[in-house]
Amino acid sequence: MSATQCGLDRSNAFALNQGKQLFGSEDDMDSHELEHLTPDDVVLDAVPDEVEATVQVRDAWLRSLRQDAAGLEFIVSDVRRWSPGQKVRVAFIGGNTALHQDIADATKEITETCNIGLDFGLDPQTGRFRTWSAQDAEYAAEIRVRFDLKGYFSLVGTDSIDPNIGAPMSAVGGRPGQCSLNLGGFAVNRPQNWRGVARHEFLHALAFLHSHQNMRGPCELAFRWEDDEGYVPSKNEQGGFIADAAGRRPGIYTYLAGFPNFWDKAKVDHNLRTKEDPTVVAGPFDRASVMLYRFPALFYKNAQTECAPLGDGISLSEGDRRGLRLLYPKPAAEIAAIVEQKQAILGVLEGPPPAALDGLETSQRVPRSIYARDVARLVRRTLPLGV
Ligand SMILES: [Zn+2]
Repeated sequence: MSATQCGLDRSNAFALNQGKQLFGSEDDMDSHELEHLTPDDVVLDAVPDEVEATVQVRDAWLRSLRQDAAGLEFIVSDVRRWSPGQKVRVAFIGGNTALHQDIADATKEITETCNIGLDFGLDPQTGRFRTWSAQDAEYAAEIRVRFDLKGYFSLVGTDSIDPNIGAPMSAVGGRPGQCSLNLGGFAVNRPQNWRGVARHEFLHALAFLHSHQNMRGPCELAFRWEDDEGYVPSKNEQGGFIADAAGRRPGIYTYLAGFPNFWDKAKVDHNLRTKEDPTVVAGPFDRASVMLYRFPALFYKNAQTECAPLGDGISLSEGDRRGLRLLYPKPAAEIAAIVEQKQAILGVLEGPPPAALDGLETSQRVPRSIYARDVARLVRRTLPLGV
């Protein structure tokens, strides 16, 4: 995922203090090693690597368009944004009606704030919510939820209807039969902060990124990337890196390389380091955002860090609400500006190359890309209604 709009950024980590309960069942998922989580372990949320790889290739192509045309300053953000006023459909695999109802209720805090709807497809006849299946050839919903994959994650915005996201055989991706949002273990046992987790993932689904990677924020400097000097690598029973006998602590790279995350350096950099991405909108850093992870103490150089969240991680902050209203505004003038941006994108994807540019290269690059047709289709699908 790459950084997003309005105070949004990218990767997050939930302190999974309830890890044992969350993954306590023998047969609820394929990741049995997570049964051994202790209250001190932290699992970061990230989409599966093979899915992330497809996002990065598509985003690199989107950024290349920016050089060809004016009006595409924030192309990565704009392509991922749903239409203001849209009712984005949600469907479930697994879980019972009570869980579906609770999730729908938790997300009202989001939809009541801005001009976007989430339609969970409650059938008044049966009292059940919309479902989807891995065999679907048509989209049952834009947001396709499961509870049985490992961890918590969501694709960002319209990536969930972009067929170039995720490999064809992957469980996760932008095709109709692929999951776009996972709340692992929720059908078995929800963590104490489940409302915050659900809101966080639905904000990703509405195109928000993580706060700790906000390029205007303090986290890059506040994080303890390296081990304490002289640290002697030491592990607990499960393989998690812990302080050594002299109390020297592992840094972030070392900690995340062990149980339960097993991340290599590139993955840490991608998910935690701050990146300048001129195609993404970043608002002011917001310490109360539900998009800011609460990392364990060893992640910070200083206990009083400005990077640590102030909020409870459960309710939306004022900054989150401002971001939502920027993304999904009500005033007609703001919606008109979004339409203009989307039409500028379509002009580049579908129209003739700008005459002022070196025509040959431009005209060949855009139409030939496998992405042009699919991205144009999803931009059209998210043009505000009535346009
Ligand atoms: Zn997240």
